[in-house]
Amino acid sequence: MPEKVVIIGSGPAAWTAAIYAARAQLEPLVFQGNPYDNNNKANGTLPLGQLALTTEVENFPSWPAGDTRAYLKTALKENDVDFPYWVASDEPQPTHGINGPELMALMRQQAVNFGTRIESKDVISVDAKKSPFTLRMHDGETVQALALIIATGARANYLGLPSEEAYKNKGVSACAVCDGFLPIFRNKPLAVVGAGDSACEEATYLTKFASKVYMIVRRDAMRASKIMAARAMSNPKIVVKWNSVVEEVLGNEKVVTGLKLKSTTSDETEQLDVSGMFCAIGHTPNVKFLDDQLELNEKGYVKWTTVARTYTSVDGIFAAGDVSDDYYRQAVSAAGTGCMAALDAERWLAHHGHI
Ligand code: NDP
Repeated sequence: MPEKVVIIGSGPAAWTAAIYAARAQLEPLVFQGNPYDNNNKANGTLPLGQLALTTEVENFPSWPAGDTRAYLKTALKENDVDFPYWVASDEPQPTHGINGPELMALMRQQAVNFGTRIESKDVISVDAKKSPFTLRMHDGETVQALALIIATGARANYLGLPSEEAYKNKGVSACAVCDGFLPIFRNKPLAVVGAGDSACEEATYLTKFASKVYMIVRRDAMRASKIMAARAMSNPKIVVKWNSVVEEVLGNEKVVTGLKLKSTTSDETEQLDVSGMFCAIGHTPNVKFLDDQLELNEKGYVKWTTVARTYTSVDGIFAAGDVSDDYYRQAVSAAGTGCMAALDAERWLAHHGHI
């Protein structure tokens, strides 16, 4: 028997879709990704999604600052293998609202409470040519689905320099929250590349551990929202290197020792002594497993083929969250489109007499 609805993903879009699909009694099956896969670790495509790699989430409505620890203890089951409990320590945090992993674990739990089933596997291919769709997992298992919701999100970009590749896990990272506390970065000068909200957030976070944080900005302006940019730029430990790009990551083969910077307005180069480089230069949607069977937009994101509907170019396949959004990319907008995708899938299943 094919599944009525399968959801691929593990962020706010996937879990919101699961909550709605479960409440519609569609018994959704979610493939949340393989937590043990090294590529997933490197790409940040692990269960709980990109928000598992962030700190405080200040802009998800309904989570103002306050003491949420007691509630979390009752709402979440203990010892989920893939929940990073380091973020939910009992240390007093008087201004604590909600952080990314907590928010995601709560959404997942809410989906489970209504009957969502979860598989911790990667979907490596989809046959979208024939209904029901056939999904193949990394372990070779296959599953058939009448309706499919793609909510696989996007992953962090790197600069693409050979020297950067050589120093990944030796001082080059795209996740300050995951790696910033490592001993190699303690009390050392560090660099963050980028000028968006992520770069400002990562730079601010790294000041907890680093002696100094350089932000490498390729233009003479920040892209970040005013509040995030102001917070970073007023931090005494943060120094902005305007009009600069990284030309080479320098190191002693074991760890990063510096960066060669090049000016974007002249031929000048400069060497910066740092022990780490954190990339925060945007994202790439996770669509490879779709093998070009769904129409993508010019930036490579899954295209919604009808305005304000989550329909894709394949009838019965819906897309939600960052995989189909190169513009808003917010947790709350992803959750919103996850809800829309579940409702669209439910109506599609009813229309075709499947429920
Ligand atoms: P953005 O696309 O907003 O910013 C990417 C940054 O990287 C830009 O400053 C861009 O420069 C720079 N960049 C891109 N490629 C290169 C390169 N090759 N070399 C040097 N610099 C480069 O991505 P973010 O991840 O920062 O944000 C994505 C979305 O998530 C946004 O909507 C943001 O608001 C949101 N967000 C919100 C947060 C919050 O509210 N707490 C936290 C983090 C993200 P340039 O400006 O010149 O294009």
